[in-house]
Amino acid sequence: MSADTYDANDPALESWVASANDPAGDFPIQNLPFGRFRREDDAAWCIGVAIGDQVLDLRKAGLIDNADINRLIRLKPQTRQALRQAISEGLRHGSPHRTKFEAALVPQRDVTLGVPCDIRDYTDFYVGIHHATAIGKQFRPDNPLLPNYKWVPIGYHGRASTIVASGTAFHRPVGQTRAPDAAEPAVGPSARLDIELELGIVIGRPNAMGVPIRIGEAEEHVFGVTLFNDWSARDIQGWEYQPLGPFLSKNFASTISPWMVTLDALEPFRKPLVRPDGDPRPLPYLDSADNAARGAFDIQLEVVLQTARMAKAGHAGDTISRSNFAEAAYWTIAQLVAHHTVNGCALQAGDLFGSGTLSGPRPDQAGSLLELTLGGKQALTLSNGERRTYLQDGDTIILRGYCERPGFRRIGFGECKGTVLSAPG
Ligand code: CA
Repeated sequence: MSADTYDANDPALESWVASANDPAGDFPIQNLPFGRFRREDDAAWCIGVAIGDQVLDLRKAGLIDNADINRLIRLKPQTRQALRQAISEGLRHGSPHRTKFEAALVPQRDVTLGVPCDIRDYTDFYVGIHHATAIGKQFRPDNPLLPNYKWVPIGYHGRASTIVASGTAFHRPVGQTRAPDAAEPAVGPSARLDIELELGIVIGRPNAMGVPIRIGEAEEHVFGVTLFNDWSARDIQGWEYQPLGPFLSKNFASTISPWMVTLDALEPFRKPLVRPDGDPRPLPYLDSADNAARGAFDIQLEVVLQTARMAKAGHAGDTISRSNFAEAAYWTIAQLVAHHTVNGCALQAGDLFGSGTLSGPRPDQAGSLLELTLGGKQALTLSNGERRTYLQDGDTIILRGYCERPGFRRIGFGECKGTVLSAPG
């Protein structure tokens, strides 16, 4: 196959890595997501690509000459696609590079997977319109969406310092809260610890300060997509959020999945951006024919809750919610990039955008416990009889994501997992 006809997304491609050909797997040869791994705790991080149940060490395979993934993610789209093609050609059945690539494989079970790149700045958006509506209803039953929602992709600046790798346990945060009937606030462990089912969008190519990224070029600046759990302390949030928005209720921990699934791999799963009739047309800097026709991505999402008692009994946990990125999101990835830079704000390689909570239109498709339990008023009953409103110490949350479409290979995101420990001291 020549370079210009090679299609790394061809559903007929199979790999000599047998586990990559499992139709139910996350990491077929059509996926090839990028991340960082190390073989032992004190070893240096390496850049890897997931293939089946293995990781391909890119440096060992002779595909790159350094271990700086933030340098890799800022490659020009053509260079990045050429790298993806070289990886695909080396891993496909009958490849002449098989021997060299085989020596660069390591089983995923033998490595630690890290935060997939050095995260620079972190911005959290609020693109989930069903989430924004459900939360708004709890506060303003007659007027749930604020008037700016359908014009501005709402967001706030968060902190990158407490974004942790999947598998990391964290302590329940302590903070200031005020009970509705209390005269004064108090400080103590959060009693309303929640999850937020989100996607993480990793910026690859930077822009210079003062030079907005136009919507037609926005996706060239995006390297890939991860799962993201923006743990949230609702009682701290409710007391602190006015007038400047979330602060300590959000920045004690957020969990990111280890693999950045590239937009190249998500290409077959594009969808039109669907807006209800009568909604305003986006302002010109947020609008393009291409964005309307194919700017959304069909990604299925799941939330699994495994309590400490379930873990002890070897129970994998209950799926408490299922939703879909294209159904949940009012704004596309390209619109977020265009909006973030319209004022001249500079993005850097490794900046992370959280999508915001991706709840589906039905109540059982909610991406937070705040919605699933109606603000803590209606507990979920789990399959082993335990009940939950908000998270208890020892609870583990696992997010999963995948794309499926007839005639195409399933593309998975792996998992994004975190466990709640008791409040410190
Ligand atoms: Ca969030």
